[in-house]
Amino acid sequence: MKEQKIPYKIYLEEQEMPTAWYNVRADMKNKPAPLLNPGTHEPMTAEELGGVFCADLVAQELDNTNPYIEIPAEIRDFYKMYRPSPLVRAYCLEEKLQTPAKIYYKFEGNNTSGSHKLNSAIAQAYYAKKQGLKGVTTETGAGQWGTALSMACSYFDLDCKVFMVKVSYEQKPFRREVMRVYGASVTPSPSETTEVGKKILAAHPGTTGSLGCAISEAVEVAVSNPGYRYVLGSVLNQVLLHQSVIGLETKAALDKYGIKPDIIIGCAGGGSNLGGLIAPFMGEKLRGEADYRIIAVEPASCPSFTRGVYAYDFCDTGMVCPLAKMYTLGSNFIPAPNHAGGLRYHGMSPVLSQLYADGLMEATSVPQTAVFEAAEQFARVEGILPAPESSHAIRVAIDEALKCKETGEEKTIVFGLTGTGYFDMVAYEKYHNGEMDDYVPTDAELAKFRDTLPKLG
Ligand SMILES: *Cc1c(COP(=O)(O)O)cnc(C)c1O
Repeated sequence: MKEQKIPYKIYLEEQEMPTAWYNVRADMKNKPAPLLNPGTHEPMTAEELGGVFCADLVAQELDNTNPYIEIPAEIRDFYKMYRPSPLVRAYCLEEKLQTPAKIYYKFEGNNTSGSHKLNSAIAQAYYAKKQGLKGVTTETGAGQWGTALSMACSYFDLDCKVFMVKVSYEQKPFRREVMRVYGASVTPSPSETTEVGKKILAAHPGTTGSLGCAISEAVEVAVSNPGYRYVLGSVLNQVLLHQSVIGLETKAALDKYGIKPDIIIGCAGGGSNLGGLIAPFMGEKLRGEADYRIIAVEPASCPSFTRGVYAYDFCDTGMVCPLAKMYTLGSNFIPAPNHAGGLRYHGMSPVLSQLYADGLMEATSVPQTAVFEAAEQFARVEGILPAPESSHAIRVAIDEALKCKETGEEKTIVFGLTGTGYFDMVAYEKYHNGEMDDYVPTDAELAKFRDTLPKLG
């Protein structure tokens, strides 16, 4: 084992935790494109957005200038229950791989919801409460976001209505029950409880649902019930802002020991954990103070960055949400069954999309059996049972460390370990039984969905 000058876990003291989120948009020369009204194709105003989202969150969504936004004391108190999260030096993985690379991971799975999503859920619940709302609505796929939001809402005594993609509702009853422990109501989507749900059911009887469809239902309920707003767990600028707490803590921990990463890796579904992890590092890059290689990892079955187009698209199937300019596969794209539920979204954060278009970060896609192979290799030496989503980042971190073994380079690699996989054991079972497939969509299939992008002016 290598000599240990750096501890296994670098923890921050409570007083070293960030007191403000970092807004990377303030340092971007090319700002992310604005959200557009789906009817008029004009930029959404704060007033229009206020009908759907909480007022303070709208202000954060539209803020392209303030680099730091103070984290309210109530949110910092909640963060203290499960943060700072550890930055772990993966000595055992390095040893196993026999690599000269130094590998670190920031572990966000140390809370009951099991992922980083709680960082934004608690912020969104706080602003809803502050506005005097009765409750919030949302969608959830595999259930991580719904679980995080239900915890956050119960803390602030808010009602929480979750539309859960029907296939997950039926196949993942445990996360559904965790949400109910925290007092949320959970409805399988599409449902007969909304107009858009009825329409989708009439057009596609027997459908098992999709994230885009659940979003449409949640938005409808929010706008048609006084005292309710809609909240979203990824993609939006405000969510990346809240998740910057991951990157700020990572940077503070590395700075304590004078460590400068060469490569920063994260999985990318809607882009929130990656956007948060890289935020302060990207800020340095944008200001010309430092350089880093930044890699987004996505599933080969849902390759928004690597095979999508950069265009305005709908965020949901029902086309009720604003249009966002992003790397997208088309809002009707339904990925082949992939066990990383959190990475199955058709689009990508507008902030990350702009950074990628400007050549400031890279992206790569990986097939799912290779991801589970990396997950298991990691679990056996580092102990933590990783979420399938997080394991996409593990795969590429291992691949980069193996390249260092060939070249003899002592690169420092940091990756985001976004969560734990205890509720994903069916996926692990499929992997063990050799029943996991690596379906990758053909160019012709992708082209079909691309044709459904909205045509603007
Ligand atoms: C939701 C989720 C992701 C992907 O979402 P991003 O917004 O891209 O970060 C990754 N890992 C876990 C564990 C998740 O729950």
